[in-house]
Amino acid sequence: MAFEDDLRTAMGADIQNDEIATQVWSALANVTWYHPESKQEAGYSFRAAGGLIADLRGNGDYMDWYCSGPYATVSDRIGRAMKKLGWIADTMPEICDEPGCLEFVSCWTPTEGGYRNTCGKHQPERAALKNR
Ligand SMILES: [Zn+2]
Repeated sequence: MAFEDDLRTAMGADIQNDEIATQVWSALANVTWYHPESKQEAGYSFRAAGGLIADLRGNGDYMDWYCSGPYATVSDRIGRAMKKLGWIADTMPEICDEPGCLEFVSCWTPTEGGYRNTCGKHQPERAALKNR
């Protein structure tokens, strides 16, 4: 995947530095990266972010980096290195899908029409689990 190749290029041998690897975890977990020119985007869960770092370092596994730093935090070093390759990070959490509401999403609720991503105030009733 292009993002992973670019991250590998951007970090180079620095990924072997534990402090840098921790910064990379923070810059991946719950962050959406956009590449406006190629219209690509990339995002990682806490676990997937740890897995990618283990991958880039060529040793260990996702647990070595899982929650190693604050999430959704892009350091200057990583932000600049990725911007140079065309990637821009969005660290702001998702916004409630209720029209007119600007609260952050805290509830992911399955409903009959699909998933709703809402703040606590607009959380819909969970759809009755049928066919069980
Ligand atoms: Zn809301």
